[in-house]
Amino acid sequence: MKDYDVVVVGAGPAGSTAARYASMHGARTLLLEEHEYIGSPVGCTGLLSTRAVKECGVRPTRDFVLNSVRGAFVHPINGECLRIDGKETKAYVVSRKLFDRKLANMAVQKDVDICLGSRVNGIEKADNKQKISVLKRGEPIKIYADVVIAADGVRSRVAKMAGLGNVSKVLPGIQTEVLYRSEDIDFVELFVGSQAPGFFAWSVPVNENISRIGLASDPKYGMHPNYLLERLLKDNKHILSRCSGGKLDMVFGGIPLGPLEKTYSDGIIIAGDAAGQVKPTSGGGIYTGAVCAKIAGKIAAKAVSEKDNSAKFLSEYDKGWRNEIGKELSIGMRIHDFIGHLSDGQMDELIDSINNPAILDTITHYGDMDRPSILIKKMLHPSKSLHMLKMFRAFAKAVL
Ligand SMILES: Cc1cc2nc3c(=O)[nH]c(=O)nc-3n(C[C@H](O)[C@H](O)[C@H](O)COP(=O)(O)OP(=O)(O)OC[C@H]3O[C@@H](n4cnc5c(N)ncnc54)[C@H](O)[C@@H]3O)c2cc1C
Repeated sequence: MKDYDVVVVGAGPAGSTAARYASMHGARTLLLEEHEYIGSPVGCTGLLSTRAVKECGVRPTRDFVLNSVRGAFVHPINGECLRIDGKETKAYVVSRKLFDRKLANMAVQKDVDICLGSRVNGIEKADNKQKISVLKRGEPIKIYADVVIAADGVRSRVAKMAGLGNVSKVLPGIQTEVLYRSEDIDFVELFVGSQAPGFFAWSVPVNENISRIGLASDPKYGMHPNYLLERLLKDNKHILSRCSGGKLDMVFGGIPLGPLEKTYSDGIIIAGDAAGQVKPTSGGGIYTGAVCAKIAGKIAAKAVSEKDNSAKFLSEYDKGWRNEIGKELSIGMRIHDFIGHLSDGQMDELIDSINNPAILDTITHYGDMDRPSILIKKMLHPSKSLHMLKMFRAFAKAVL
């Protein structure tokens, strides 16, 4: 039986970051991970914006960065490909396994204790503490904590056990790593419309010969992601001409869309995918998860030092992260809904109207993977063409 100030459940990026921050702010912290290895299995493309890597407190070194990208080719169903050039490195393609291990290692360096092969399967209030039931390599143990941070991913058991529920909209994602000759390894490729209904498909270059090709789709269209991926690989002429067959790797995962209504209760805080802190426009959760995990760690440590782990005190976490990224997530959700409802024809028209030097220049200057609202506001500037302005006014009305 052990006693900690803060116990973090799940050693993904959000959990390791929250644990590091709790410890840095003076809390005796334990990080529990159900798997024997950090970062495995992984359900991610590993495309991290430069800001995401910085937010995690990591330098983009060659030990985990495999490639860097500066733009995107957007492929409509019919029509010309749109080339968006950010002119400078916008994102890194990383090994998630090595990235996650780096973050866990950084937590350990800041005196976080870590237990692998330790699955949390129960949590209950005991006096003023949380009593956590853990199955550690088959052996049941109990651990006590003043504050539990649940960073146990999209199907968070802890959030459920705490009565806070799980995110209701989860997009199934699938990805394979294939031998693929990218047109330009500085650019990711996006495939929109009915190729991945309700979301999009991607090809992210790892190097000259390998790419991560995947997609997520809205389950309401009733199409299995496996079917959609096979169809993309077989029927998309652009992909077909560049693939030389053979799947090197396969990953699956869920992308939670829209944050939980409440991310705290007595002695418990929910962070990362478990709380739905993911960008609805891209499905990326590392940047948003890191922003929130840092706040989670700080507030948990503050609750310990002020001897108040009540829901009221921990609501400061909820306010804190919503102040930082809440508006961006809700705008992102509206963009997701708007784009998700376009027909192939409307999507092609949208891409075609963006394919204009003045607009592409605005995207180069103001496009931001993590904060799309900045670009939307800039697109409304009167210097844009009348047609574009009309379209963006309608778009902005729907999303802002
Ligand atoms: C196909 C796909 C592609 C993606 N691509 C990108 C991308 O390119 N860029 C990006 O930013 N995001 C991407 N994402 C999203 C990203 O992977 C997640 O947002 C991110 O991993 C969330 O981090 P997390 O720490 O909250 O949760 P996770 O990374 O899911 O970590 C949760 C951890 O908790 C552990 N755990 C779960 N239950 C328990 C338990 N009961 N006890 C102990 N441990 C437990 C798990 O083993 C896991 O290690 C993608 C997602 C998918 C599905």
